[in-house]
Amino acid sequence: MTIQIMASSVNQAPVRQAFLPYNLPDIEQGEIDEVIDTLRSGWITTGPKTKEFERRFAGYVGARHAIAVNSCTGGLHVALAAAGIGLGDEVIVPTMTFCATANVAVHVGATPVIVDVEPDTLNIAPQSLEAAITPRTRAVMPVHLYGHPCDMDRIGEIARAHRLLVIEDAAHAVGAEWCDRRVGTLSSATVFSFYATKNLTTAEGGMITSDDDEYAEQMRIWVLHGISHDAWKRYSAEGSWYYEVCVPGFKYNLTDLQSALGLRQLARLEAMTLRRAELADMYRAGLCDLAEIELPAHRPNIRHAWHLYAIRLRLERLKINRAEFIERLKSEGIGTSVHFIPLHRQPYYRDRFGLQPQDFPVADAAYERLISLPLYTKMTAHDVEDVIEAVRRIVQRNRR
Ligand SMILES: *Cc1c(COP(=O)(O)O)cnc(C)c1O
Repeated sequence: MTIQIMASSVNQAPVRQAFLPYNLPDIEQGEIDEVIDTLRSGWITTGPKTKEFERRFAGYVGARHAIAVNSCTGGLHVALAAAGIGLGDEVIVPTMTFCATANVAVHVGATPVIVDVEPDTLNIAPQSLEAAITPRTRAVMPVHLYGHPCDMDRIGEIARAHRLLVIEDAAHAVGAEWCDRRVGTLSSATVFSFYATKNLTTAEGGMITSDDDEYAEQMRIWVLHGISHDAWKRYSAEGSWYYEVCVPGFKYNLTDLQSALGLRQLARLEAMTLRRAELADMYRAGLCDLAEIELPAHRPNIRHAWHLYAIRLRLERLKINRAEFIERLKSEGIGTSVHFIPLHRQPYYRDRFGLQPQDFPVADAAYERLISLPLYTKMTAHDVEDVIEAVRRIVQRNRR
């Protein structure tokens, strides 16, 4: 492979003729059949397939409860609302995440307190979390960035010492493990995303898992209008038309059409996760000798879900910046993205809370250097080789 790469690097034609998209969903005939079966069944919204998806997802993760929702964002919103977090409360969130993690804190009337991350994983830094705790802090929302689990031992210790609720944003981390335990069993509530680009997709969707019976019951009520299922049982004599609204809940239920997709995706999740790890290994083998590129962290005692493959450029060794590197990749026929523009750089959070880049030195420096390479199960080994070749070519032509 090395010889091939060297030979083609003098060639001026782009590495790819057909553009390699940054992401594509992996939908097979089984998923299509299951959706059609649902359409024909007469039950298209939340019903038997959603119940079955919840049951199997809880089994997969090893959690007592799984509650299907129509997005991870909705699930995170519910987790905060059901815990009674609101006006005057503070919720600690890492700056290196998608805006949804902090937006939901604002939605319940709480104050998101944004903190810096660790240099290797870019996950929430336990010491920054600890330093941000005040008497008003109620919860912390760790994000398992790129599918690499956070340091849940340290976070759990800090949370217990300060009586904080831990609500995990596991949008990237379905199938990930922390010390042989699946993400989804490590805190009060964990919320997964089944958005189109995620490791398991239902087009739009999500799942909350929890081992806490009472909290799970409250979250279930908040997911669907605040209607209590207990009321039906307690007052069954009143008839099936009777229900009680206990809280001003949301409309965040997952449909059976989506759960049909989810059931088939879940059955393939282990195989898909193994494939992602294979592709990540190929990237590592093909790029690890380049001094100009820093590869993603992979600590011991974890299983990486490999949602994203985010490299960091060593800009001091290159003549081009990140934006130019992305443009060159595009010219070579390779789609990329950036995860994420840190929250402290987003106008709303920056201006509303007066955030300064120097308060987030780790995330801010990393941001300028980040590029997410394509990583999805529909990619062939040849596709990965093309990306490797394109990166190597651009590095060779632009090293200092
Ligand atoms: C995708 C994503 C979300 C939101 O997921 P939805 O299911 O689209 O609501 C939240 N947090 C992170 C880190 C994400 O990547």
